[in-house]
Amino acid sequence: MRTTRRCNPAYRTVTLTNLDGSGYLQGDWANVRSNTGKAAFSSTNSFLYTRDDDRFEQVMAYYWVTTAQTYIQSLGFGLARRPVNEQSQDIRIDQIGIDNSYSWDKHDVVRFGKGGVDDAEDAEVILHEYGHAIQEWQQPDGTFGTSAEAGSIGEGFGDYWAATVSNVFASRALWDIRGALGHVKADTRILEAQFSFAPDTSMPAAASATVAAARSLYGNSAANATRGAFEDRGIL
Ligand SMILES: [Zn+2]
Repeated sequence: MRTTRRCNPAYRTVTLTNLDGSGYLQGDWANVRSNTGKAAFSSTNSFLYTRDDDRFEQVMAYYWVTTAQTYIQSLGFGLARRPVNEQSQDIRIDQIGIDNSYSWDKHDVVRFGKGGVDDAEDAEVILHEYGHAIQEWQQPDGTFGTSAEAGSIGEGFGDYWAATVSNVFASRALWDIRGALGHVKADTRILEAQFSFAPDTSMPAAASATVAAARSLYGNSAANATRGAFEDRGIL
């Protein structure tokens, strides 16, 4: 995925791997099957959209599902270990018209809802739902979460999976800061900073507020570590 809105540092350019060459977002590990808007197509394999375009969500879903399966294989699954969801995962985007996403195991499809910020615009929503697809795939009959406790385990795993994969691959600034400062200082500073966020804050403004909170709470070295993490991500 390549994006062009250079004034917005939240966008990143990434390489889409494992495409089948059809020009659509179909490949070894992800298959964006249908959508409410136009299907993303590129004869040159360049998919440049911003989030106001439904095709942006298709690219996000393709990228994060493919990244998750590649990560699974890097752990040995499908190689030295049993495969885990080793298939081209069908993904449907914006099909249900409500702001809810779910993995529909009987049809082996991950769906993303629409509303608010469309769910597939958010990498962690994509990875959470892929977490459900993983657990369902690991069951002989493709169903998981049929008791209250199993359902809770499924939600917990989905959240964990979203955090671990996005941390490995996106190395997001907040997690970098957490790694540098530890969870007490990192989370205190984040919560303090949020008091001064504007309701429509930009990423750089939020980052600056977070640096300022780090400085007032913990001094210059914490502020510098915080600033460095945002600079590494191109946000400051
Ligand atoms: Zn869930």
